[in-house]
Amino acid sequence: MKAQPDLTQVEKDKLEINPDFDFREIAKRPFEDISPNELAMFKWSGVYHQLQPSFFMIRVVTPGGRMTTKQFNRAVDLGEKYAQDEMCITTRQTLQYHWIRKEDIYKIIEGMAEVGITSKNGCGDVPRNIIGDSLAGAGPNQIGDSLKLIRWMADDDEIQNQRNLPRKHKISVASSNDALAQTLMNCQGWVPVERDGVVGWKYHAGGGLGARPYLAKAIFDWVPEDLVMAVTRAAIEAFRRHGDRRHRAHSRLKVVVDQMGAKKFGDVLIDIMKEKNVQGLDSIEFAASAVPNIGRMSINGEAVIPQKTEGKSIVRILIPRSEIKTPESRIISKLADELGGGIIMFTNRQNIELHDVPNENADKLVAALHEAGFKTEGHEHLPDIVACVGTTMCKMAVSDSPDAYHRLYNALATDETYWKAIGTLRINITGCPNNCAHAWVADIGLRGTRTRNPEGGSVEGYSVFVGGKLSEDGKIAEYLCDAATEEIVPAVKKILDAYLANRQSDGELFVDFCARIGISNFQELVASE
Ligand code: SF4
Repeated sequence: MKAQPDLTQVEKDKLEINPDFDFREIAKRPFEDISPNELAMFKWSGVYHQLQPSFFMIRVVTPGGRMTTKQFNRAVDLGEKYAQDEMCITTRQTLQYHWIRKEDIYKIIEGMAEVGITSKNGCGDVPRNIIGDSLAGAGPNQIGDSLKLIRWMADDDEIQNQRNLPRKHKISVASSNDALAQTLMNCQGWVPVERDGVVGWKYHAGGGLGARPYLAKAIFDWVPEDLVMAVTRAAIEAFRRHGDRRHRAHSRLKVVVDQMGAKKFGDVLIDIMKEKNVQGLDSIEFAASAVPNIGRMSINGEAVIPQKTEGKSIVRILIPRSEIKTPESRIISKLADELGGGIIMFTNRQNIELHDVPNENADKLVAALHEAGFKTEGHEHLPDIVACVGTTMCKMAVSDSPDAYHRLYNALATDETYWKAIGTLRINITGCPNNCAHAWVADIGLRGTRTRNPEGGSVEGYSVFVGGKLSEDGKIAEYLCDAATEEIVPAVKKILDAYLANRQSDGELFVDFCARIGISNFQELVASE
């Protein structure tokens, strides 16, 4: 028999180090006594060692991105005390603290636990925060109750105690057939469907971005709601059995599904459920085609969205670069209680929505937000740029993505007439190929890289991609050009000007324009600008 190579260091650590650290004990240990392997395993508790020695990031898990104001107020109190007065909203609808001292990690974890929020499985080779779309529980088109499924999954020991998967595992549950829930870029993606008044679920698997992006395939067209958990658990089991533990670059479920194909992956799930004696499997319908068909984004810039429940509205707030300071957080929380329904939702574009706002309060709430300095206009448009932390805090970063954010925001997003003329257009900036900010599926995606310096050597810059989408069958953005950081504003301006000058009508979306003209024509247009 061929000799097996040794386990990788990560796999050894996962077997040898208990990921449930006692952070009170860690607080007492000198930093030098914590091994790099233990530091790496802190992630399983949502604790990341920052770029800056002896400072940490903590990611708390907020299923579906939803918090009550009581929970949010506690998060704010902890941020004020231990995280330099600031929190960040992530693209997986969670909250993150930065600049945490080792001695304070347990204080945040215990403080959040008192209001029912954990940081367990915030990072690591585990099932991560179960996401949905920010309209969940309220959106005008929702089918069934996605929040119920998200809660089931977040509370399920069989899912949440999977602490040694081959790699991270991401699940999304949509509240309607809408690309907002990012179904196609998750390992598992559920979309509700109604037949003759009965709610069931379409099931997708195998999506994931990172350095090599894959879009999910349709696996089942119909799964009865009472089998959703069995399928979700079976997919995690399939991942355990078939995921590659030798090469981390190939270890995500996306590679398993890609190699097996949709039909075989579905067969594997059915077989696993049969082993577990799950009943009613005949009612699951395989997908007629592996090519998914997800609805288009149903929201395009609205500040106020009428809820399905009559008399209630959603009010949306733009959070610049996802960072929210203590005083602003307290204002939002107070307004959510006084004029809203006491519910705060974090969006995957790193903004905030207030749900269950009585219609008669909506205008008053928007006016109060404006008076406090918040913006409510510009969602899914140029002012709504997503960027990761880049070289400011991340060990993997190549480029300073917050700097690129500010350059683009200041140059392109402050002129309301201009961004309204451009229309719906999402820019995402990611500081390295890991793609935490989802550049692959943005209208315009910037990915940090070193780019050629005409005077010799290389300089910090970005590869620019266009035309990504998560609706219909999805599309990974295509490479357009490279630009040094200093050139990033003129480069994006040329792209926007080419679009404005050549689109068929004001209503032709940027993503449709990209598809119509093709990438090489787009490159020529930009070169001639
Ligand atoms: Fe760090 Fe890269 Fe992720 Fe940005 S995309 S947060 S630089 S790993």
